[in-house]
Parts: sequence; C-alpha cells; structure tokens
Amino acid sequence: MSDTLFERIINREVPADIVHETDTTIAFRDINPRATTHVLVVPKTRYRNVAELAAADPGLLADVVNTAARVAELEGVADAGYRLTFNTGEDAGQTVFHVHGHLLGGSPLGPEARPPK
Ligand code: AMP
Repeated sequence: MSDTLFERIINREVPADIVHETDTTIAFRDINPRATTHVLVVPKTRYRNVAELAAADPGLLADVVNTAARVAELEGVADAGYRLTFNTGEDAGQTVFHVHGHLLGGSPLGPEARPPK
C-alpha cells in the first residue's frame, strides 16, 4: 500500500501546520479551511475510513476523538461548540484514504448537508 499524503505529513516529508500531537495521533490545519477553525485529526496508523478504524482498533478511534477534544480546547472552541466529521467514500467527498476527522468551529456552522428537494 503506497503512502498517502497524510503518512508523508506524519513522517515530516511534507510540511504542515501541526497544532497538536500524541503518541498515536497528529492534528494539523486544513490547507483549505472551510471554517474559522478547521483542523484535521489523524491517527498515525492508517485505516481507510472511520468504520475500518472502529472495527480494527476502537481504542485508537477514542484517541482520535480525545485529540479532537484537546485541540478544541487549544483553539478556544470547546465551550462554544464544534463539529467533528469523518467523510467516508466518494459521495461524502473523501479524497485522502487515511481516516481523518475534520474539526470545524469558531462560528455557528449550520447544517452541513440537506436532503434533495
Ligand atoms: P477529505 O476530503 O475528507 O478526504 O479531506 C481531505 C482534506 O485534506 C481536505 O479538506 C483538504 O483541504 C486537506 N488537505 C489536502 N492537502 C493538504 C495539506 N497538504 N495539508 C493540510 N491539509 C490538506
């Protein structure tokens, strides 16, 4: 399995604006932010999506969520609220097939997706 962009960021082969790191996770700013705060939270071990991560290593999924909560504190959005989303597959717009949570916040977000009329 060839490396994704996120392995290259984890291995410091590609630069990123890292905001927090633990033994098992890394969090860095999205290069194309879609909210005032937009940070990607990534486990250092690669799974394609959040369902594969949950099935294989629920403790690591908990690490991702706990890292997101810590980043929300560091970014000052924990009290006002934030969204943590995992795009899964093409229709959701997933482009990097190394599971990552999008932490979004910093202003009211509104509903992300609406059913077609
Ligand atoms: P997804 O579409 O859910 O797979 O999310 C991938 C995200 O990675 C997108 O929001 C991109 O803006 C973001 N992204 C792509 N390249 C980089 C990069 N070099 N550094 C930080 N974020 C990136």
